[in-house]
Amino acid sequence: MTTLQNLTAVPFFNYPSVFKQEQDEMLRVFSDVGNRGAFILQRDLEEFEHSLAAFLGARHSLGVGNATDGLHFAVRAAGIGQGDEVIVSSHTMIATAAAVHFAGAVPVPVECGPDHLIDPAAVEAAVNSKTRAIMPTQLNGRTCDMTAIQSIADKHGLLIIEDAAQALGSKFKGQCAGTFGIASAISFYPAKVLGCLGDGGAVVTNDDSIFEKIYQMRDHGRSTGGEIVSWGLNSRLDNLQAAFLDFQMKKYDDVMLRRRHLATVYTERLSDVAELVLPPPPFADADHFDIYQNYEIEAERRDELKAYLKENGVGTLIQWGGQAVHQLKALGFSQNLPYTDRLFTRILMLPMNMSLSDDDVRYVCANIRAFFGYSA
Ligand SMILES: *Cc1c(COP(=O)(O)O)cnc(C)c1O
Repeated sequence: MTTLQNLTAVPFFNYPSVFKQEQDEMLRVFSDVGNRGAFILQRDLEEFEHSLAAFLGARHSLGVGNATDGLHFAVRAAGIGQGDEVIVSSHTMIATAAAVHFAGAVPVPVECGPDHLIDPAAVEAAVNSKTRAIMPTQLNGRTCDMTAIQSIADKHGLLIIEDAAQALGSKFKGQCAGTFGIASAISFYPAKVLGCLGDGGAVVTNDDSIFEKIYQMRDHGRSTGGEIVSWGLNSRLDNLQAAFLDFQMKKYDDVMLRRRHLATVYTERLSDVAELVLPPPPFADADHFDIYQNYEIEAERRDELKAYLKENGVGTLIQWGGQAVHQLKALGFSQNLPYTDRLFTRILMLPMNMSLSDDDVRYVCANIRAFFGYSA
């Protein structure tokens, strides 16, 4: 018999449970910030920006309202606009492309590869005289082969702007996602690996002039001296959110470790299931340090599997509502990307978050095994 407990066994994401884990400390942070009345562009934000830049090994980080704004600011600050093209992966959030669109430039989605990240060969093939930049998405907590991307950028004189929304702490050849190009953005949306209690994001850059420009763009064009020196908007990371984030940063190494452990449990329990393709396990490739923002598998009979798991109380999600960027016809895309089309009939994200126990993951795996007819 299916019990009620089974029906709610492993939700895809459990926001209240994640909050409860840190409730007391978060309330203390809230009370501290509230009692100081420190809400906009205050000390906590500056401290968090320093922690974040130090953690990444970057020169600057700037809190912004969300990563979408951060990416948009990065594109504009890089001088990209009308008549320019920017190459993006088709397996990314529409936000990546929107950041380009609203700068007046054209986002050009290309195929991803077997690792679900932008395919360097597809990038190379899409370069033309209008191309100004490559915007790789460091998807699912994994960093692209940045050696390959960099060599294409060098060859054609292109900028790199990373969508590192999902990749805080992920590394390629020992270097953190978000530090490869001229600028990048990281998201603190609540379901992200480092999530705040609402919207939030940061821009990361090693370039002093990009820093200066975005410092102004996020706050009505005000310079570090407080004078209005350029056109700007309002997209500041709330000081309160920054205080929450700075507190959570202190435990971030443990978070990455825990997620890598959960990925190992998935690997142990599922690697013999021939109907699946799993993400690479944590120590598969010395060039990559993955932080498993998502655990995105490929599965045969994906929709049936998803329905079966739901019946058994396991929540799963298909990224981007199941639509790749080039499939969004309403936005005028018309690329033909067969590899990504096929991938999007197969991808499925299994639960991967800090409220999961090892037993939860084993329960998910047991159900997947049962679905495909494998012994427990
Ligand atoms: C979450 C996400 C974004 C947008 O981040 P926001 O902070 O919600 O604006 C952009 N790109 C990718 C790949 C994301 O996962």
